[in-house]
Amino acid sequence: MTSLDPRAPLVLDTRELGRRPGSQREMTLTAPAPADLGIEVLSVPEGSPVELDLRIEAVMEGVLVTGTAKAVVEGECARCLEPIHEDIEVTFQELFVYDDTRHGERGDSEEDDETSRLEDDLVDLEPLLRDAVVLALPFQPLCQPDCPGLCPECGARLADDPDHTHDAAVDPRWSALAELKNDDLN
Ligand SMILES: [Zn+2]
Ligand SMILES: [Zn+2]
Repeated sequence: MTSLDPRAPLVLDTRELGRRPGSQREMTLTAPAPADLGIEVLSVPEGSPVELDLRIEAVMEGVLVTGTAKAVVEGECARCLEPIHEDIEVTFQELFVYDDTRHGERGDSEEDDETSRLEDDLVDLEPLLRDAVVLALPFQPLCQPDCPGLCPECGARLADDPDHTHDAAVDPRWSALAELKNDDLN
């Protein structure tokens, strides 16, 4: 594991809390989004601003980080492929445990990997932010909740043209194709 860079935008220095339980600090900051913040179909563009509102609070065993993050996500509608561009706001909270016990006691037990740890009293917000964003995103993003998708016959976006119809007398070869397509989908 490489050590954290205190100058990295998503790394917080908690030393000024002095490890005194109860001491806390609130801060707001804007950081550029790291790569791959989101899911394949919907994500925060790398480098775009993520606005963070944070409270860091020293407790007995470490530092509790509570915050909200605001960002813009981009992707495309799972039904009609229309570009999606929307604001998201996520909240998160995580306890980072002091890393004093890591020498000797940690060994190579995998068990500890579940616990977030401070490294030299620095907190890495990135994994926290990533988890919160991924959890907040819909598995199948839609441009609107009832997006009707694309016309199976001509591919037109039905939301733009709700009364869209085709003459019943489509060339029979085409309707045979359409049926084949539907069978594939089932
Ligand atoms: Zn759509
Ligand atoms: Zn059509």
